[in-house]
Amino acid sequence: MVVVMGRDAAPEDVAAVVDAVRAAGGDAFVSRGRSRTIIGLVGDAERFDALNLHSLDGVAEVVRISVPYKLVSREHCPDRSVIMVGPVPIGPDTMTVIGGPCAVETAEQTFEAAVLARAAGASLLRGGAFKPRTSPYAFQGLGEAGLKILADVRAETAMPVVTEVIDPADVDLVASYADMIQIGTRSMQNFALLQAVGAVGKPVLLKRGMCATIEEWLMAAEYIAQRGNLNIVLCERGIRTFETATRNTLDISAVLVAQRLSHLPVVVDPSHAAGRRDLVIPLTRAAIAAGSDGVIVDIHPDPKLALCDADQALTEADIREFSSVVTHLPPLIGRSLTPAPDRQLCDRL
Ligand code: PEP
Ligand code: MN
Repeated sequence: MVVVMGRDAAPEDVAAVVDAVRAAGGDAFVSRGRSRTIIGLVGDAERFDALNLHSLDGVAEVVRISVPYKLVSREHCPDRSVIMVGPVPIGPDTMTVIGGPCAVETAEQTFEAAVLARAAGASLLRGGAFKPRTSPYAFQGLGEAGLKILADVRAETAMPVVTEVIDPADVDLVASYADMIQIGTRSMQNFALLQAVGAVGKPVLLKRGMCATIEEWLMAAEYIAQRGNLNIVLCERGIRTFETATRNTLDISAVLVAQRLSHLPVVVDPSHAAGRRDLVIPLTRAAIAAGSDGVIVDIHPDPKLALCDADQALTEADIREFSSVVTHLPPLIGRSLTPAPDRQLCDRL
């Protein structure tokens, strides 16, 4: 159930609704949009009916939500959301590129990848310091030393940083360095982790579980939203199918379905979907044409030396073509490439 406040509702009116809901044993999550405030109610709908919330001052409408994910649904917020990562928007009018190495390996490698990413059209830098590897013998990431490298490269390049957290105990540490926290495909149903990132309030990039339905993915987003953090971007990164020619199968239709069911932005990861460099640019074209709000791609200055996912990383030789695609295709569908922040803006962050 959601309570839509009128345009002239006062802060005391919002507080009165929240107090009434909490007194009835429920919980209320306030999201202030550009033109109005919406309050998502969690708890027993029958008890909320008895409160006659529509008669309280400032209340415009009380709406029952029919889908199981409430706060992230289009029924809750009919307009598509724009999520800000520092000064960088991800939303329906733009095409935002997130680029960088799969894993932070050295300061030089991360800096060189960031420079290539900026040249490719990226406004946000990706890079894993905590890596969720299938094998316990594979490179697990540099941990906090990797986060420090990301912060240094952000200072050099003016690109806000997206990095993954895999352990709830590390959420505060990762949040203290990251501008956006990534939840990987293997963690999409780690509910304690979802709640922990919901509580810190930083923007979250929520990858779809490799075997998750769209509804399960949206329910995972709901765990984050329910803790008061609606700054969530969904990421389609390919799902497991019978096909072995690609690492995963990019589910392009999931982008459209998720955008219709949820107000949250949806981006595509063609690198982890394909697992093959030769498909990354064509799948980026497909993602943009389908209406994705952005793409996240692996870029490595020298994939021969990469400690993780070498086969799918774009290299310097691919940057010109990639940049041309992300610059020229979005305007054909009424979007523009999000520019990278300038240095002065970053210095003020
Ligand atoms: C990643 O982006 O580095 C990553 C591990 O991706 P995924 O969780 O989609 O496999
Ligand atoms: Mn990877």
